[in-house]
Amino acid sequence: MPHKTNDASKKSWLSVPENSDFPIQNIPFGVFLTRDDIITIGTRIGDYAIDLNALQQLGYFEGIPLTDDIFLQDSLNDFISDGKKTWRLVRNRISTLFDVENDTLRTNMDHRSTVLFSVNEIEMQLPVQIGDYTDFYSSKEHATNIGTMFRDPDNALLPNWLHIPVGYHGRSSTIVPSGTAIHRPNGQTLPKGAEAPVFGPSKRVDFELEMAFITTDANVLGEPVSVAEAEDYIFGMVLFNDWSARDIQKWEYVPLGPFLAKNFASSISPWIVTLDALEPFRVAGPKQDPEPLPYLQQKGDHSFDIQLEVAIAPENTEPTVVGKSNFKYMYWTMAQQLAHHTVNGCKINSGDMLGSGTISGPTPDSYGSMLEIAWQGTKPVTMKDGSQRSFIADNDTVIMKGFCEKNGVRIGFGEVSTKLLPPFQTE
Ligand code: MN
Repeated sequence: MPHKTNDASKKSWLSVPENSDFPIQNIPFGVFLTRDDIITIGTRIGDYAIDLNALQQLGYFEGIPLTDDIFLQDSLNDFISDGKKTWRLVRNRISTLFDVENDTLRTNMDHRSTVLFSVNEIEMQLPVQIGDYTDFYSSKEHATNIGTMFRDPDNALLPNWLHIPVGYHGRSSTIVPSGTAIHRPNGQTLPKGAEAPVFGPSKRVDFELEMAFITTDANVLGEPVSVAEAEDYIFGMVLFNDWSARDIQKWEYVPLGPFLAKNFASSISPWIVTLDALEPFRVAGPKQDPEPLPYLQQKGDHSFDIQLEVAIAPENTEPTVVGKSNFKYMYWTMAQQLAHHTVNGCKINSGDMLGSGTISGPTPDSYGSMLEIAWQGTKPVTMKDGSQRSFIADNDTVIMKGFCEKNGVRIGFGEVSTKLLPPFQTE
């Protein structure tokens, strides 16, 4: 079904700066605190945040079946539960209302002053209350790099990797929005050559350049979601920095996988870009060989051409871009991940978040973690202030950006920017 919101020629009466991630074709969803300290659900066009609750109270969503307080919430979970048909009706209405051809709201200065905010005067919150969070390991290049470093270059991929979208259950309690600083974690590590572990701050704090998707209620307990239907249950995507402490990870991960090396923090961009907005940027993913089992087989294009970059900004220094990648490099698609996740009957709820896994491309300048970029510390990267990084230093800020571009339309995710503070001190 064609989405009229995607029409590349569409313009808004709100000004949109050149190279903005948020033209009228985007219409993402987020949660923010207004200048009056009221929490509301909103969208964004250019550098304007739009209060959807205010729009609804003024009658602009008339005719769309919505409960009265659906946007006066501190999370999008209930709206996401309303399902794809409702998301589309609301995005279509917003698209019409802010179209340059439409005078209804444009000429009503009183309503405009209630509904519109500058993005500089609001504070973005977590967009959903995340019930469960799962992280995958779905980039073949990333898994090959890690296998080469830690095991055997000739058998870098473990035997299951080409058959299963490998994943683990993470922890939702420590997922934070862009702008929330985090602390360097303490933990157990086994220093090189030592026989007994030591306790202290991680010396190898790293980012993982990922994207994550947010689901709606997909199934009842016991019922699988088919790969053909899986995309209908995906609301949208965000940028995702899956902070990792490599030295803690190396010591703790046997035999059950990541634990404290991963659950001290993960950071997300605050605007959820819908799968509908990303539709024009659909591309084929890598060819899958061997062919997956039937429950994972797909026809058509199920990846998305999303350009990604990650930069490190030491304190009081301009950011240095350390990696550029693309979501299209992912070997396993989101639909395959969701189908695999539910094939045993695991229940997926509204607001669940599923991370892609580190997105590494084929060349060293497209790797998605410092572990790979600096190759275990053997190839440090020089920052603009002349200092070097193999991992993240205290007071560095890690900034990830992502956008799609085609036919003169750019749809982006904004950024996820997070400062790493020194270890937490108890006073
Ligand atoms: Mn990860």
